[in-house]
Amino acid sequence: MNAPLAQGRVPAAAPAVNQSAPTIAFVSLGCPKALTDSELILTQLQAEGYATSKTYDGADLVIVNTCGFIDAAVQESLDAIGEALSSNGKVVVTGCLGARPGEDGGNLVRQMHPKVLAVTGPHATQEVMDAVHNHVPKPHDPFVDLVPAQGIKLTPRHYAYLKISEGCNHRCSFCIIPSMRGDLVSRPVGDVLGEARRLFEAGVKELLVVSQDTSAYGVDVRYRTGFWEGKPLKTRLFELCEQLGELAEGFGAWVRLHYVYPYPQVDQILPLMASGRVLPYLDVPFQHAHPDMLKRMKRPASGERNLERLARWRELCPQIVVRSTFIAGFPGETENEFETLLEFLREAQIDRAGCFAYSPVGGAAANALPDQLPAELREERRARFMAVAEAVSTRKLQQRVGATMQVLVDHAPALGRKGGVGRSYADAPEIDGVVRLLPPEKASKTLKSGEFTRARIVGTQGHDLVGLPI
Ligand code: SF4
Repeated sequence: MNAPLAQGRVPAAAPAVNQSAPTIAFVSLGCPKALTDSELILTQLQAEGYATSKTYDGADLVIVNTCGFIDAAVQESLDAIGEALSSNGKVVVTGCLGARPGEDGGNLVRQMHPKVLAVTGPHATQEVMDAVHNHVPKPHDPFVDLVPAQGIKLTPRHYAYLKISEGCNHRCSFCIIPSMRGDLVSRPVGDVLGEARRLFEAGVKELLVVSQDTSAYGVDVRYRTGFWEGKPLKTRLFELCEQLGELAEGFGAWVRLHYVYPYPQVDQILPLMASGRVLPYLDVPFQHAHPDMLKRMKRPASGERNLERLARWRELCPQIVVRSTFIAGFPGETENEFETLLEFLREAQIDRAGCFAYSPVGGAAANALPDQLPAELREERRARFMAVAEAVSTRKLQQRVGATMQVLVDHAPALGRKGGVGRSYADAPEIDGVVRLLPPEKASKTLKSGEFTRARIVGTQGHDLVGLPI
């Protein structure tokens, strides 16, 4: 049994790093697992240059790591929070009691002590540190402070990728990613949202959510309840998208989802797209359409009725844009199966489709499949696929002529006097087309990289639209 071990109320704190460093008092209650959480938080506090203290006096903030195991431990924790509030006033609560619901279904700690600054559950070092940063800014460190809060980014300042998980539970026969990156490991929801907020604060206007299998977010932790801003939040795609959308709204930014498999639960995200919280854009790697091919490929969601699913998505969110990738010439693909793929492409009206001619990857199970097709046939099918894809895409692009679209400017030298290049919600960076912006007609209108403009679509050019900034 995990009986709580009473720990010293205020653990031995390391000596202050310097006299002027902000000071955090720390109360650690509960079992050894809670103690290790305290150690992680104290380590991080010191690493960031905070001083820690044994007393509330003179402390800039108090962290109380609580226990919620038995009634006596709950009472001890609630008393400690009350004492810290009356002695100091600025209190952050973490630990097991922070995860306990109150009678009204809300948070017990917030119910009993509404004045606490933030509440997290156990094992939440980053969320505790976020709360500390919000109320007691990090001391200046001449070495570390040269690194921006959002980390080093290789993308332009106005867009960034946000990885929500690593690895993959599937075993597609053409892919070796799981053997390199292992099974799915979802990042804690609070960490993901904390990173998103730092990126928005640093000026990111478009957040691109990526992983190997975005729809599976949280499956590995059984959609465990994490914490965000002191509130419980499930580690699940819907909840994550809802919060990302809310955060993005405050910064006037976009959220775009990549690598979403067509599982039924994705239907839940569509209303968020219809209401504009998340961009109405889905990057769904279908890879093929014939059921036997999908089985040979060992694709996830191969049993889903993808045409019906797409029709449902378009019903829920008529403006949705679907991008996908496909493989032509996979081992054993018959002409009939390939024709099914082309038919799917025409019927599904995929807005942006890419296609690879199958090519074996060292170590992939598909290498051992019978009926490998000659390279020329694989390439010929890829070309036939792209001809159909381009016809669909061109027709869809032409339907946009005359519309007014919000465009995020990627490039506009000389304030856009000679025009520029941007993207609408329908275009992800690097993989889709762009909106070629004409010079604005009004002399007062300028374009700047990283800012939004409205543009009237006046024509198409290959995979791109041509827009007049207004
Ligand atoms: S191709 Fe299949 S196995 Fe590879 S990462 Fe994607 S879903 Fe996972």
